[in-house]
Amino acid sequence: MPVPHLLQSKLPQVGTTIFTQMSALAATHGAINLSQGFPDFPIDDDLIERVAYYMRLGRNQYAPMTGTPQLRTSIAAKIERIYGYTPDAEKEITVTSGATEALYAVIAAVIGPGDEALVLDPAYDSYAPAVALQGGKPIHIPLQYPGFRPDWNVIRSSITPRSRLIIINTPHNPTGSAWQPDDLLQLEELVLQHKLLVLSDEVYQHLIYDGQQHQSVLSRPEIRKHAAAVFSFGKTFHATGWKAGYVVAPEAFSAEIRKVHQYLTFSTHTPTQLALADYLQKPENYEHLPQFYQKKHDLFLELLKDSRFKPLPCNGTYFQLLDYSGISNKPDVEMARWLTVEKGVAAIPISVFYVDKQDHCLLRFCFAKQEETLRKAAELLCKI
Ligand code: PMP
Ligand code: GLN
Repeated sequence: MPVPHLLQSKLPQVGTTIFTQMSALAATHGAINLSQGFPDFPIDDDLIERVAYYMRLGRNQYAPMTGTPQLRTSIAAKIERIYGYTPDAEKEITVTSGATEALYAVIAAVIGPGDEALVLDPAYDSYAPAVALQGGKPIHIPLQYPGFRPDWNVIRSSITPRSRLIIINTPHNPTGSAWQPDDLLQLEELVLQHKLLVLSDEVYQHLIYDGQQHQSVLSRPEIRKHAAAVFSFGKTFHATGWKAGYVVAPEAFSAEIRKVHQYLTFSTHTPTQLALADYLQKPENYEHLPQFYQKKHDLFLELLKDSRFKPLPCNGTYFQLLDYSGISNKPDVEMARWLTVEKGVAAIPISVFYVDKQDHCLLRFCFAKQEETLRKAAELLCKI
């Protein structure tokens, strides 16, 4: 469709996201959809009942711009429990309409024309366009293949006087890698030396395997003075359609983020916030998540053990990378389409998350699915 001549695209390179494309292709061809990351099992009935309860109670009007006090207080208590410090619920926590909104608000608060933001490729798709929309420049730095850990030497050498922000994501979408304690130490040194701000996307904080610890910026006092950490209730409580998240940042940083948030969405769905505030008070509602998803991960790999796809290590998230180089030398975008249309399983190609479209013959499969779905998908994949 031609763009009217008065409208010049601010994002000329951007099309419809790969998640939307692959989910649509899966639907058209009746394929099992392991592409876009969302669970195919129900959420907890208690949570649904809490939302219904608050709706019936009449709590259906605007929430406070920064989030309901109940939810911010529950979030502060949860952070205290997990990371050992208590953010100020009034001044340092802002509830947003999903992590996507929080990411955008942080980037818009920090980045101005000509400012540089370091982005580690393969990167979640919303970061670079949000930087570009502010007139900023995303500086893409590849993670090290095949482990997908940051290369701190390359990161350090990419800093310039215009560097304002480093955007990090652990556990990492799309690769399933996770930071080690040393990565946080390296980050700390970097931000202190170069006066950088940090945007830390931690939406998969609870999805971490084999007894590892999630490396949160909130766990290190020196980093958190410079950092905004973003979380998603959609990811944590299997309710991606709720679009509820939050951002934790020091008071002055939060004040700037809130200025953007108040004109982006103003506030977030009230009954959902009140329900989440209650639900968070029981740590068992989130503490079981690593085991819950580890079981799904291990089952998926077990089911694929005789297939010609080769799994890469998965330390976190609900995504498993499979290397198909032993099967085909098609480009990954073509392979993902072929797999969906001809073989009935949809996955996400990894090259689309690289600015230079690096192709390592990798596809991402979401294992946040019922056992039956994983069995059916694995059966099809094993025939290839
Ligand atoms: N960051 C990452 C790494 C993601 O995978 C996602 C997708 N859930 C988001 C942010 C966005 O989260 P939300 O759905 O809460 O907007
Ligand atoms: N985060 C989800 C994924 O990685 C997709 C979210 C979206 O569709 N924008 O699959």
